[in-house]
Amino acid sequence: MRDSRRFSSYFIPTLKEDPREAEIPSHKLMIRAGMIRRLASGVYEFLPLGWKVVRKIEAIIREELNAIGAQEIIMSALQPKELWEESGRWELYGPELMRLKDRGGREFCLGPTHEEVVTRIVAENIKSYRQLPFSLYQFQMKFRDEIRPRFGIMRAREFYMKDSYSFDLTEEGCRNSYDKHYEAYKKIFTRCGLDYAIVEADTGNIGGEYSHEFMVLSSIGEEAVVVCSCGYGANTEMASYSIVEKSSDLEESSEEKEPVEVNTPGLSSIEEITGFMKMPAERFIKTLIYKTEKGLIAALIRGDAELNERLLKAAVGVEDLTMASPEEIQEATGAPLGFSGPLGIKVPIYADTEILSMKNAVSGANIKDYHLKNINPGRDFTPEWSGNLRLVRAGDLCPECSSELKILRGIEVGHTFLLGNRYSAPMQANYTDEKGDEKEIVMGCYGIGVSRLAAAAIEQHHDEYGIIWPTAIAPFEAVIIQIADDAESAAAGLYADLKEEYDILWDDRKESPGVKFKDAQLIGIPVQMILGKQFLKDGRVEVVFRSTGEKQYLLPEEIAGILKKHLRGK
Ligand code: ATP
Ligand code: MG
Repeated sequence: MRDSRRFSSYFIPTLKEDPREAEIPSHKLMIRAGMIRRLASGVYEFLPLGWKVVRKIEAIIREELNAIGAQEIIMSALQPKELWEESGRWELYGPELMRLKDRGGREFCLGPTHEEVVTRIVAENIKSYRQLPFSLYQFQMKFRDEIRPRFGIMRAREFYMKDSYSFDLTEEGCRNSYDKHYEAYKKIFTRCGLDYAIVEADTGNIGGEYSHEFMVLSSIGEEAVVVCSCGYGANTEMASYSIVEKSSDLEESSEEKEPVEVNTPGLSSIEEITGFMKMPAERFIKTLIYKTEKGLIAALIRGDAELNERLLKAAVGVEDLTMASPEEIQEATGAPLGFSGPLGIKVPIYADTEILSMKNAVSGANIKDYHLKNINPGRDFTPEWSGNLRLVRAGDLCPECSSELKILRGIEVGHTFLLGNRYSAPMQANYTDEKGDEKEIVMGCYGIGVSRLAAAAIEQHHDEYGIIWPTAIAPFEAVIIQIADDAESAAAGLYADLKEEYDILWDDRKESPGVKFKDAQLIGIPVQMILGKQFLKDGRVEVVFRSTGEKQYLLPEEIAGILKKHLRGK
């Protein structure tokens, strides 16, 4: 895999200025370091340096997947519509699916993922229990017409993914394949030098029974992740929590007062009402009317909280949940949108736990332009159901160890799903068991955003001068920076000595020292070996470590030993 090069004949178009289109460090640095170029919105080319990084990440992933026995294949990016109709996803996937027609008018899509294709292969070729279990994987460009492509290759419309699929006889077997992938993923992300968290996640577009996301922690992350020092992790939708028992500091007084109507003409949002009544949002009961397959319902959460629709769906026992229309709100409450409250409402009430301990709270009065003060849950209304309904907040307690939960930002670099029979049932991927009975194959699927991972690594490893690559995924492991003209033959000697054992870039360009130093910092190669003034004086090479800035002056023959220690840990 080693591929040492001379800078003068290698294509690295570095830039001095940040590109205007880029908002985040990784995007700016990848363009400035000559790793990627943009062709269209969300569509990027990988130049030699960028592709070299991707290929290093790929090699790590391949090693770890081969180690768990998975087998590499490559599937077609072009996928016929009929396949997606079998799984029901031609409709479900929506506008993110890149659709196209061939010259005969037949419809296709460009694969955003490959469950359909791989399930077809297995359905057509597996007959007996003796042929299972196994796992297949591939590296490939995926296509998704993202609504908001941004941050360069972080959220692109064409991106490089590794996708694996496991096929088992039983649910238990599938859990075992899942665990093997899960463990391999941990090794992969650790080897890539990433600080990451594993969180329970929902199964979204892919479907299935349960899933985990591997999140690289970073302030630019698009998703909030809930983590605990004990190792518990979940995305905000999936997070469970228990609540700290608060003292009565939110209550106006402990004594329950009588409800009073307050005229609030045209004031309907929580911000408007809290401003008008000069009370914090924690004193308000938000009443949200939803439409479900069981009819209209009301959900109550505190004014400062956000509803978790997953919890509400589970509490009501429904699949479909949508906000009610203004007409439906009128029907449920007798008042227009913005004045709903729990008193006298005509639909079942589902209340968040926090609501029950509120005293003298404020809510809509179910009368146009009126709110009610001094509402006391229990006395003034009784919910049909109560329990946790809101999204987790920082400071809630861990469901596993009761420490305080933290909410951080994360970049999703990997996702594992236990699919069960989500695809094998509709696509009839079956096998005959020992007794001759036909059974459904139990599947799992596992993705890694390989190109996104490169960008995520830069988010975690950079400074004001450029990238600081983790050694394992650096495009080159060390750079020879030849400054003094007289040092050419020494540089050539060093290059010849090291280039088979290490991935070396030899900066032999006729450029000023300043340009060479800046490029080396920008590109972020872990070890710099400078042949400059010091070398001419006493034959010592200045060795600089990019991550710490530490310098050593070494004789050429001492360098191999230092590289071995620093780059190979030996
Ligand atoms: P996201 O929530 O970020 O859209 P996803 O849940 O749609 O991701 P998966 O379908 O699980 O993603 O795809 C597997 C992996 O591919 C993700 O974990 C992520 O690392 C990567 N990925 C997904 N969408 C993109 C994209 N638009 N650009 C680059 N990488 C992506
Ligand atoms: Mg997505």
